[in-house]
Amino acid sequence: MNAAGAIDCDVHPNVPNIQALVPYLDPYWQEMVDVRGMETFENRSFPLRAPINARPEWQDEKGRAAESVDRMRTELLDRWGASIAICNCLYGIQMINDENMAAAFARAVNDWLAAEWLAKEPRLRGSIVVPVQNPELAVDEIERLAGDKRFVQVLVLVMGELPLGKSFHWPIYRAAERHGLPICVHLGSAYRHPVTASGWPTYHVEDYVAQGQAFQAQIASLISHGVFQKFPKLKVVLAESGVTWLPTFLWRFTKGWRGLRIEVPWVDRSPIEILRESIRLTLQPFDAPADPAQVARVLDHLGSDDLLLYSSDYPHWQFEGDDLIPSGFPESLQRKIMIDNPLATYPRLGGST
Ligand code: ZN
Repeated sequence: MNAAGAIDCDVHPNVPNIQALVPYLDPYWQEMVDVRGMETFENRSFPLRAPINARPEWQDEKGRAAESVDRMRTELLDRWGASIAICNCLYGIQMINDENMAAAFARAVNDWLAAEWLAKEPRLRGSIVVPVQNPELAVDEIERLAGDKRFVQVLVLVMGELPLGKSFHWPIYRAAERHGLPICVHLGSAYRHPVTASGWPTYHVEDYVAQGQAFQAQIASLISHGVFQKFPKLKVVLAESGVTWLPTFLWRFTKGWRGLRIEVPWVDRSPIEILRESIRLTLQPFDAPADPAQVARVLDHLGSDDLLLYSSDYPHWQFEGDDLIPSGFPESLQRKIMIDNPLATYPRLGGST
């Protein structure tokens, strides 16, 4: 498949180890890495060696992947021909309990990304990692980097301490909207709560599958709290969420809203309408059956050609061979997913900010 000119909206450069971030920390935190014996903040949603975390041909002998620009260039950019790829670094900043430590390491991750990746490969763009634990510190980080147009969105995880619609998070949305930065809500947990609504799971497969519940809860939270009425230009991108659960969830949500709308009078349109205007989803992992006829039916149920954004989810193992877009997608939709929808979602890619 040729994706020349495509905009890949979810790729993952990996921090090789905590020492790689030390040059980007201020002197106090540089010292603390030694004094406290800090070893790593890798996110436990992506355990090393879990097969889904990297295609086998992209792993080194230690099971690590996507740790250098050279590898990403060869394995992804040159192979599929994307013109732009948006880097979502999933190092576990959101898991840190100390807000000040989280802010320091968020700054380090962002500066590391800018220096070690964005500066070395013009096709790459970045997401601003924020200490979502403290919205004031998160806004400071957005403001610090907003002038650098290579950063095109703000990154949070789908499972943090609080539902994302709550006004606690609104300062982050206000800053993001002001600077033309969508909020990317990526799969992953800060592990403040069990990842299922019925308690802690046992196996990684349960954890990974349960993330779909969290995406549903966050859509309900964002829409019910009126985030898109308060911040009408804000876009939210759900990344690595899968998509086939969306139509049935929206049917259920909209039915419930019809009966309960008296308690959320600011939700002035149906959840389906609000979602179609303000929320987007990345393509991979595309979780429909392989039958093209069934894929076409899922696309029909989504009810809009504007929702999906092309993504490889590199280096995660989400598809086989070169079939990044599954069969069953009509050609006109492929172009929209690869180019038009990302340009409409990310103001900074269209040069309009
Ligand atoms: Zn991803």
